[in-house]
Amino acid sequence: MTTPPSVRTRVRALPADALPAYVYDLGALREHARTVRSALPSGVEIYYAAKANPEAPILTELARWTDGFEVSSGGELAHVRDCVPGVPLAFGGPGKTPAEISSALRLGTERFHVESVHDLRMLADLAPRIVPGQRIAVLLRFNLSVAQHVLANSALAMGGRPTPFGIDPAEADAVVRTVVEQHPQLELRGVHAHLASGLTAPEQLAVAEAVVDWSARLMARHDLVLHEVNVGGGMTVDYARPQDRFDWHAYGRGLASLIERHPGLAVRIEPGRALTAYCGWYATEVLDVKHSHGEEFAVLRGGTHHLRTPATKGHDQPCEVLAVDDWSHPWPRSAVGQGPVTLVGQLCTPKDVLARNVAAPGLRTGDRVVFAMAGAYAWNISHHEFLMHPRPGFLFLPAEEEPTAPGAERASEQSTTRRTAIR
Ligand SMILES: *Cc1c(COP(=O)(O)O)cnc(C)c1O
Repeated sequence: MTTPPSVRTRVRALPADALPAYVYDLGALREHARTVRSALPSGVEIYYAAKANPEAPILTELARWTDGFEVSSGGELAHVRDCVPGVPLAFGGPGKTPAEISSALRLGTERFHVESVHDLRMLADLAPRIVPGQRIAVLLRFNLSVAQHVLANSALAMGGRPTPFGIDPAEADAVVRTVVEQHPQLELRGVHAHLASGLTAPEQLAVAEAVVDWSARLMARHDLVLHEVNVGGGMTVDYARPQDRFDWHAYGRGLASLIERHPGLAVRIEPGRALTAYCGWYATEVLDVKHSHGEEFAVLRGGTHHLRTPATKGHDQPCEVLAVDDWSHPWPRSAVGQGPVTLVGQLCTPKDVLARNVAAPGLRTGDRVVFAMAGAYAWNISHHEFLMHPRPGFLFLPAEEEPTAPGAERASEQSTTRRTAIR
């Protein structure tokens, strides 16, 4: 695992009491998002799933490369509207409350992803009162058992088996009839299906094809036009191989031929993790080193209450050690031996493990450690209050200004100062 020089330099320059810190490289995010965008054909719309990482500077950057954002709560909806006004929103998620639906209607939400008949009835009931005369565009979310060979492999399957997500396909025809016959203020645009996370490009294509074919047959049975299908997110991120990326080019080629078979159809995807995982780092320092019953441990400042991802996913977070030569204490500095080290946090629980079997021979108290792939489902899924340790800092390294005129260099220096927020 090699940390980019910009991040490494920044982490080395931070005073110890500014650690731990999340460091986000907005330039890396821009480059990655640009690659994803250019790999996909023009008929494909990207909606970023805000739950992966809703930090404002990340939303601002991604707004340039995506067609909209997917939000799954009233909180996300208000936050995203506030950070990136005017960006199209799709509002999904189970258990929407009347208050959430009302505020989504008031704030103007381009797509409602309807998760159940109750969800549908509530929307149909509130819409005429809050936005009278306005037709509300909906996608019905179905829990489809398509491409079972693919879904069975996913650790995070949300569809194709009993789950609280989406409408059971056995009810599909009845629900479509309900919308058409009873709720003319709702405009049925098509289908939404986010079935699993962690799928490779060929697996995602198999799911997308099956979902589109199923949706086309559903709408044809009711003499309705299928305008759009949202085939979900869940593009794989491999924490064991940080250099590997989801094959966006193969996915783009496959989606292009899918669209060719369904002229006029808008295909939408809503990736979260695969867009932002790579742009974030969690940087910290070694507080102590232990030899325990034949194994080596390094205790780091911070832990899984800041970066819960390895605990929830059951992986070793990829990391790099930055050796620090300063040592200000009068006693000798402790160090691990040559064997593998387990990197743990400060929490009083054996579950507070960030990475096992790390090759870090001679790792010393006071050295720094930078964990990669901490840009998605990291800080925002962590149990911050557990044990009441201080919160980490947050740094956003700005993307280079696009080269325009001479003097651009100076402008970018100024913007560095302005946009580097520590919270
Ligand atoms: C979580 C979620 C996503 C994003 O999933 P990733 O694995 O982060 O790509 C997209 N759509 C829905 C409905 C989700 O719940």
